[in-house]
Amino acid sequence: QDYCNPQGQIKDTCCDYRSVEDIQQDIFEKIQSLVKTKFFRFYKLNLWRECPFWNDDGLCMNRDCSVETTDEASLPEEWRQPALSAVQISPKGSLFQPFQTCQYKDQDFCLIEDESDADGVYVDLTENPERFTGYAGTSSGRVWKAIYEENCFNIVDKMTEGCETCNNVMHVGPKVDDQIRSNNPLKAAESIAEATQGNFVKVPEDEEKFDRLLNDLAENPDGGFGNSEEVCLEKRVYYRLISGLHSSISIHICDEYFDQATGKWGPNLDCFVNRIGSHPERLQNIYFTYALVVRAVTKLGNYLEDYNFCTGESEDDKSIKSGVLDLINNARACPATFDETTMFQGPDARSLKLEFRDHFRNVSRIMDCVGCEKCRLWGKIQTTGLGTALKVLFSYGENNLNPKRNPGLLERSEIVALFNTLNRLSESLQAIKKFRQLYHERTEHH
Ligand code: FAD
Repeated sequence: QDYCNPQGQIKDTCCDYRSVEDIQQDIFEKIQSLVKTKFFRFYKLNLWRECPFWNDDGLCMNRDCSVETTDEASLPEEWRQPALSAVQISPKGSLFQPFQTCQYKDQDFCLIEDESDADGVYVDLTENPERFTGYAGTSSGRVWKAIYEENCFNIVDKMTEGCETCNNVMHVGPKVDDQIRSNNPLKAAESIAEATQGNFVKVPEDEEKFDRLLNDLAENPDGGFGNSEEVCLEKRVYYRLISGLHSSISIHICDEYFDQATGKWGPNLDCFVNRIGSHPERLQNIYFTYALVVRAVTKLGNYLEDYNFCTGESEDDKSIKSGVLDLINNARACPATFDETTMFQGPDARSLKLEFRDHFRNVSRIMDCVGCEKCRLWGKIQTTGLGTALKVLFSYGENNLNPKRNPGLLERSEIVALFNTLNRLSESLQAIKKFRQLYHERTEHH
């Protein structure tokens, strides 16, 4: 089986593998050099918020888990703490949007880092690459599990479709447990809805069931949902997006793997084959996530043409802008990699969209539970990047995406996160190419 060489259409996108790889060919070098520029390299975030869902397992103490922070003094004055706080109280503040306080705006799909947060630190992303850290076991397993659990969109839906992963928020009593056990999901759903006055609830923990489902998810080419026509597009998209992110993180781990026997960093083909290559749907999902993010970036073309990159040096601003626009023009080769207008069209469109948004926001909060600083950093950046892509695709029409008419639609951190996420995905696609080659060499050798 030619594991690493998928062909044909990428499900739920408007593209086949070939055209995505053509785009990748055109933009890889461009995105690589953009993320090294001053605007895209520095990201401010609070790395030490408490995990809101369970008691922390404690942080990974490996050297490779830790993050190097950057002294603000080396950054443009506008980005430093006093300037950012001043902006908040200045009467002109509301006109100067890039650094405004970031709470949730209605349109946001994730918790956006507040650049004026005194507990936040700047990180130079080029000095903290996402790669193998050794973070694994119960802690990371629990985080992934919680993230996939967010894929259940409401209780009735969940119970009737047999999605059994949502199980840890509220225990509503033995009556419901019995109904669930006796396989009467509709009755159970009714009781839960009654007990909570219609609020979203989840059923008691069941590790074994969860593990079974996770296995199904991994093995089933339809993304673990059985008959794909029973599952609405929005849920598939949610699942594919998360699974694609998971694949991308795994690929980075395998591509920059620390071999304890030799003490060297390098690609580990077995790691890739085990985690990704032998699961075609995981491979497909990373192409899916890439296609969706590329579409969001190209949709932002006009917005970024008028955006002030504000690095403190106008020559730099100009060259960053021209790099961004050049990348976008090249990414347009395939007319629209993803068609967002097909989503949220049914009778429940509005509530589904709100649920979709709330679940994605929860994923960004779950990132505070990642027990390894470096993994947390990249987890947060990439969920913000994906959240920004979703916001661009689903919250605004192309006409509203104009920084002059509609300033402050996007924070600096959202733009930085979006492009860095594209870069991680792009590096993953590049690594897939490398692993394909290594795989062929190995099979020829045998
Ligand atoms: P895991 O990757 O933990 O996967 C758990 C289960 O999910 C698997 O058993 C499988 O059933 C299912 N699964 C796996 N992949 C997919 C997929 N693509 N789609 C659907 N289902 C899937 N480690 C590092 O070394 N460096 C990092 O930078 C890093 N960043 C991380 C960031 C986050 C947000 C998290 C939660 C973890 C991170 N980790 C990182 C840990 C890493 O992701 C793994 O959890 C760890 O390497 C253990 O891997 P595993 O083989 O046990 O399976």
